[in-house]
Amino acid sequence: NIVFLNGQFMPISEAKISPMDRGFLFGDGIYEVVPSYKGKLVGFGLHIQRMQDGMNAIGIKLNKSVDDWRDIAQSLIEQNGKGNLGLYFHVSRGADIKRFHAYPDDIEATVFAYAFEIPEATVADKTLVKQFKVASTQDLRWKRCQIKSTSLLGNVMHFQQGHDAGVHETILYNQHNELTEASACNVFIVKNEVVITPPLDNQLLPGITRHMLLDILRKDGTLQVEERVISMNEVRAADELWITSSSKDIAPVVELDGKPVGNGKVGDIWQLAQTLYSANKHNY
Ligand code: PLP
Repeated sequence: NIVFLNGQFMPISEAKISPMDRGFLFGDGIYEVVPSYKGKLVGFGLHIQRMQDGMNAIGIKLNKSVDDWRDIAQSLIEQNGKGNLGLYFHVSRGADIKRFHAYPDDIEATVFAYAFEIPEATVADKTLVKQFKVASTQDLRWKRCQIKSTSLLGNVMHFQQGHDAGVHETILYNQHNELTEASACNVFIVKNEVVITPPLDNQLLPGITRHMLLDILRKDGTLQVEERVISMNEVRAADELWITSSSKDIAPVVELDGKPVGNGKVGDIWQLAQTLYSANKHNY
């Protein structure tokens, strides 16, 4: 397994970082995950732009262009077997000589990247697709969820709640009982053939899959699409429920808190949406 660390490629066993790295001590960093299928990256420019937005938001300065990142990605794909790979990129603020909360201005960011295997691309077939079960709980993370921060303890704890309950994901709602997202996915509902997802704000990550799916559905025009506040009552009364992420595409949810979603089966609107998504995602 060949990884990239601070300008060099090396076996993972040789990749070493300082315990004074602020990524380790404070979770002070930004990360990205980009999917690739047989060497083809999906949504690369969008992912790198989101990572740059995150670095701008927390004041990490790094001189890397989209092409620099693409070179790293292509090299990792070449050196790790060209299968279906997720590319993980991580930029932390870097290692300081002392532990002090304020951003030091004289340190260099730590840049790490590696490739890991992801499942085959999702097949838009109701009878073959993995059926997801989820739990729900109040979103107790911080109020800057639009930043893809490496400080993931809040997400990890919420994911664990679902894991302990024997389900695949945990969907989250705010203090007003409104859907935000899931611990590692965005969330969509379908009601009367309308596809609905919460609007972008500080309560959720601007998912690249979410963005591409909305764009693809709007360009296609068959389905009506809405970005608006969704109450948990609406979620519980939805015909279909989906969770989206770069490694899952559009994953159909058939059970929420032990109760069937809609008729408890993967829906026809999912089938249509995933068909369109599979056909168009390589254009991004
Ligand atoms: N929301 C959270 C909290 C995430 O960690 C992720 C990414 O895995 C997503 C949403 C989905 O984002 P994307 O579609 O860019 O993978």
